[in-house]
Amino acid sequence: ATPTALMVGTGRGAQLGILIKGPEVLESTRRIDTIVLDKTGTVTTGRMTLLAVHTAGDVPEEPEEEALRLAGALENASEHPIARAIAAAAADRTAGPLPAPEDFTGVPGKGVTGMVDGHAVLAGRPALLADWSIALPPGLAEARAAAEARGRTAIAVAWDGEARAILEVADAVKPTSAEAVARFRALGLTPILLTGDNETVARAVAAEAGISPEHVIAEVLPEDKAAVVSRLQAEGRAVAMAGDGINDAAALATANLGLAMGTGTDAAIEAGDLTLVRGDLRAAADAIRLSRSTLRTIK
Ligand code: ADP
Ligand code: MG
Repeated sequence: ATPTALMVGTGRGAQLGILIKGPEVLESTRRIDTIVLDKTGTVTTGRMTLLAVHTAGDVPEEPEEEALRLAGALENASEHPIARAIAAAAADRTAGPLPAPEDFTGVPGKGVTGMVDGHAVLAGRPALLADWSIALPPGLAEARAAAEARGRTAIAVAWDGEARAILEVADAVKPTSAEAVARFRALGLTPILLTGDNETVARAVAAEAGISPEHVIAEVLPEDKAAVVSRLQAEGRAVAMAGDGINDAAALATANLGLAMGTGTDAAIEAGDLTLVRGDLRAAADAIRLSRSTLRTIK
């Protein structure tokens, strides 16, 4: 490959909304046959909204407000998109300022814990509560199952050792995702959805984006995302990975081609080979097509 031809290719990339780290990046896209897509913030908008609060068990008066207030106070200390949605809804719908949490701990891929107003509070995926041996009572288990069947994320809230609420949170699949997935297929790539979220939610999102249910890899902890990419590579695949979060950075660096969402975190952008400036996955298909035609021209 001559440097000049590759430079032409990278110039066209900028027009398409793609920033390329260096001319050599285009070459590594040639063999790509698999594209791994992070769910939240990559296939979906990442702008979460709180849609419902379900309560059960020994809750005080105004149980929904109390669950929102305690969870919101804790989530105020977290940057996670789910945390932003819960904290915003709590600020909106509860009286007075949210209390400042003490002993706040963020558990990556699971949720948050800490003390709020003298209560030991947990908010996160039900697996976080299970880690603390807190079970969901039947009413909340039902609310969780119904939420997940609708493709929504169920956040469980517990305080003082008891599960008290399920918060239903969801974000929307980006309007461009299904078309991008169709373009990946047309280029002969296998699209795979990778997420820390649970299987039911992941499958609902995959269905909307046009990704096959057998290509959904769910409930993967942030530190294990890179290992999933390595495993696919060990199967002989040449893997592109698209992601936006701090939790995607290692996987982006491990992939043969790392595609960072320009709308995402600096950690992802630093780890990626290419940045999709507008966070539009269709630009990833353009990048792969561009690199193939650029390389064809210079052969
Ligand atoms: P993704 O891979 O889809 O970007 P993450 O790995 O960041 O998702 O998170 C996985 C799951 O962990 C979330 O779907 C949520 O259930 C839970 N979780 C993570 N952080 C938080 C938080 N701050 N508050 C509540 N739940 C959280
Ligand atoms: Mg993400």
